[in-house]
Amino acid sequence: MDNLLEVKNLKKYFPIKGGFFRTVVGNVKAVDDVSFVLKKGKTLGVVGESGCGKSTLGRAILRLHEPTSGEVVFEGKDITGLSHEEMVAKRREMQIIFQDPFASLNPRLTVFQIIVEPLEIHEIGTAEERYEKVCSLMDLVGLRRQYMHRYPHEFSGGQRQRIGIARALTMNPKFIVADEPVSALDVSVQSQVLNLIRKLQQEFGISFMFIAHDLAVVQHICDDVAVMYLGRMVEKAKAEDLYKSPKHPYTQALLSAIPQPDPNRHIDRIVLEGDVPSPINPPSGCPFHNRCIHVKEICKAVVPPVINTGTAENEHIVRCHLFSEEEQAKSKGETAKP
Ligand code: SF4
Ligand code: MG
Repeated sequence: MDNLLEVKNLKKYFPIKGGFFRTVVGNVKAVDDVSFVLKKGKTLGVVGESGCGKSTLGRAILRLHEPTSGEVVFEGKDITGLSHEEMVAKRREMQIIFQDPFASLNPRLTVFQIIVEPLEIHEIGTAEERYEKVCSLMDLVGLRRQYMHRYPHEFSGGQRQRIGIARALTMNPKFIVADEPVSALDVSVQSQVLNLIRKLQQEFGISFMFIAHDLAVVQHICDDVAVMYLGRMVEKAKAEDLYKSPKHPYTQALLSAIPQPDPNRHIDRIVLEGDVPSPINPPSGCPFHNRCIHVKEICKAVVPPVINTGTAENEHIVRCHLFSEEEQAKSKGETAKP
């Protein structure tokens, strides 16, 4: 079995309380019916504007946010029903790297204490073995060993992110959620951290869910890319297919905003009007309909189904009415693509 992670119809709703008695008056549907499979050693990029639910998805998979419903199957076992103690043990194998490496590192601990802490919590190894492990992790992520007794504030943003990565690796995880790990870094430092992550994929076969807010960042390090909009996964495909022939109008708009390395390939910039609507009161039907240049009547009333426009082995998933059989039949002869 080479599936490491299977996410099935995952939902995470946050109740909204209002009125004098603070009763539940509605829900923020932060993650709404998301399904995907991640194979061992592969990386899935999850892209979308802020507030689209990508971080909540990562946290719900790790049960840092308790899912509202759905399944998270890790190595063949649904982990949504595990007890707190069982989940603590499971989290050795499932780690997270945060966007802001400063806020996520305890400022009162030295680098050594930060990296060794998971081994102490799980009571793994002798003092000498732990020391050796910290040294090897510092070498691996490119931090000088002589800095191990320094504090996080003494490091640059890129180095702090390396500390966060070293800590995530302490327990030899199989899966890491990297939540915008380079967004807070200078462009020159971003590529160094991305190269480090690529090295970890290759050397240790770790599977990543790599969250980013633009498609340019994930282009070269992801096998598959998923695009999220208002809590839903609106498109997912092999990275090269998604970049070469994006199907969903939202993905097309996002892609049109990034520079094209191929001078022969010109993509007209599609400027999206307006902001992402509030997830408290999302538009009916297709959540993208108020910003979509291809909107039809059906889009305003009916939630688009999940459609596979690829093959069974090579899926290209899109949630858009333009790809339903009826629409495809109607536009037969014309260009079927939006
Ligand atoms: Fe646009 Fe309709 Fe497709 Fe939504 S379902 S993306 S509104 S064409
Ligand atoms: Mg986020």
